[in-house]
Amino acid sequence: MASALFGGIEAGGTKFVCAVGRDGRIVAETRIATTSPGETLAAAIAFFQGHGPLAALGVASFGPIDLDLRSPTYGFITTTPKPGWAQTDVVGPLKHALGVPIAFDTDVNAAALAEQRWGAARDAASAVYVTIGTGIGGGAVVNGRSVHGLVHPEMGHARIPHDRTADPFGGACPHHGDCWEGLAAAPALTARWGQSPESLPDEHPAWALEARYLALGLANLILTLSPDRVVLGGGVMSRARLLDRVRTHVAELIAGYVRSADIVAPALGDRSGVLGALALAEDATH
Ligand code: ZN
Repeated sequence: MASALFGGIEAGGTKFVCAVGRDGRIVAETRIATTSPGETLAAAIAFFQGHGPLAALGVASFGPIDLDLRSPTYGFITTTPKPGWAQTDVVGPLKHALGVPIAFDTDVNAAALAEQRWGAARDAASAVYVTIGTGIGGGAVVNGRSVHGLVHPEMGHARIPHDRTADPFGGACPHHGDCWEGLAAAPALTARWGQSPESLPDEHPAWALEARYLALGLANLILTLSPDRVVLGGGVMSRARLLDRVRTHVAELIAGYVRSADIVAPALGDRSGVLGALALAEDATH
């Protein structure tokens, strides 16, 4: 299989990034706007039919998705609010058209896998990837495999302490209010402070609170999963010194009780999703 080509799709709410490659190197790539499921999947299939034959295909998808192989809706995007995409079979049409093994996972689990295989967590057996942007998403790789369960981890919706005296903002998550994402993703900053995160100056008190909230969630993940490394990405993390502040708070929270994970910036940038899809494809063949 040394010369086999793999396919990968980073299936996002605004675009599908489709790539063909091997060993973490992409040899052909295209971007398809996410319109209707039929139109979008047909364009993806046409790309792969023109760049094959493939040994396997990996799909790293927005969600929630059904990863349970015993489920009649395995391979579906399930309860997404994105118009037209709720209860959509993604794996079925791809498998029918391409006839290759297909691996399906969340975009953040795939990103964790890519960073662990080729990026910032390369020599770590267990790694967590968390992205802080329009939401908070997290994926985990334990002993080289991404973590699934009844559904899949939804780390961004975990609960963290919320002192309503210090921070009266009620939270921005439509499902939970003040979950981790509801308190610390970009829309929460915008709603709490009345301006976008990008426009908040470095010395604004928003950043001390943000570092505290991010550290509370990360400390829980570190204590639950005991990863060697945590890769922290997403637009909010581009703020200067935020990563350092988060590291300091995490160390304070864990208080020397156990060794804490190294918390690092991503090495693959916005390529982690599509590279993760290729990593999923490689794993689907063995
Ligand atoms: Zn939530």
